[in-house]
Amino acid sequence: MLKNRNIVVMGVANKWSIAWAIAKVLKSQGANLIFTYSLERSGKSLEKLLAEEGLEGSDIYKCDVTIDNDIEKVFASIGDKYGTLHGVVHSIAHAKKEELAGRYVDTSREGYLMAQDISAYSLVKVSKEASRIMDKGGSIVTLSYLGGEKVVKNYNVMGVAKAALDMSVRYLANDLGKDGIRVNAISSGPIKTLAAKGVSDFNDILAVVESKSPLRRIVDPAEVANTALFFMSDMSSGITGELIHVDCGFSIVSY
Ligand code: NAD
Repeated sequence: MLKNRNIVVMGVANKWSIAWAIAKVLKSQGANLIFTYSLERSGKSLEKLLAEEGLEGSDIYKCDVTIDNDIEKVFASIGDKYGTLHGVVHSIAHAKKEELAGRYVDTSREGYLMAQDISAYSLVKVSKEASRIMDKGGSIVTLSYLGGEKVVKNYNVMGVAKAALDMSVRYLANDLGKDGIRVNAISSGPIKTLAAKGVSDFNDILAVVESKSPLRRIVDPAEVANTALFFMSDMSSGITGELIHVDCGFSIVSY
């Protein structure tokens, strides 16, 4: 489904990262993958993972999304080397751990701005730089969460960042649609990852989803990855500005 497509995957920190599950599925469908990471230790984990999967040789770029110049340089380098880009997976978020517990009303200005910057604004700048080299159209997908639509205990400042991210997807889809570039979001159910561990009482969230979701289970990262494949492929050619829930149906229940 993705033969000869150049796709950037942003946000693999380790083997539990949703981005890693997505990368494996995209690779299985023939994509040429290009990776970005922010922390040195993520870069090292990434090199190890790529070697384990027989993917060594994939290009890896350091890119801290709070730095405009990093984003500009990465996409300019990709443009120079590959000519055309077909897809971007944006799987990045961060908030201070202390903001992911207790009351939202206690959110600090600094914590609010940091969460918005890394988790929401980054998609805007990434989309701008990526779109410059998507000369044959393209697909951009980001990862969101129910906490951007409904109040989820302890999700707090990240929920507000996800609300901004969800709305950014629609504005970006509207701006870039005339160039054949689609922008969509996947609202994943809770999955145990490094980022999720930052949310206080995360195991309680998992237990509630397991007992109350229509499918009575937690979503598998491979299911989220398959949806990302759908968005990267021509199978979703008529879809943009969409937020699709891959959450075992949890978002439809209210008891
Ligand atoms: P993760 O910790 O594996 O991934 C988060 C990534 O964000 C890491 O690779 C980290 O290095 C990167 N990142 C943080 N700050 C950055 C910066 N300044 N510049 C560049 N990269 C930076 O956790 P994950 O759960 O795989 O998260 C991926 C995405 O999925 C996030 O947007 C998250 O909110 C979303 N999501 C996760 C869940 C869940 O339950 N795990 C549910 C719904 C949505």
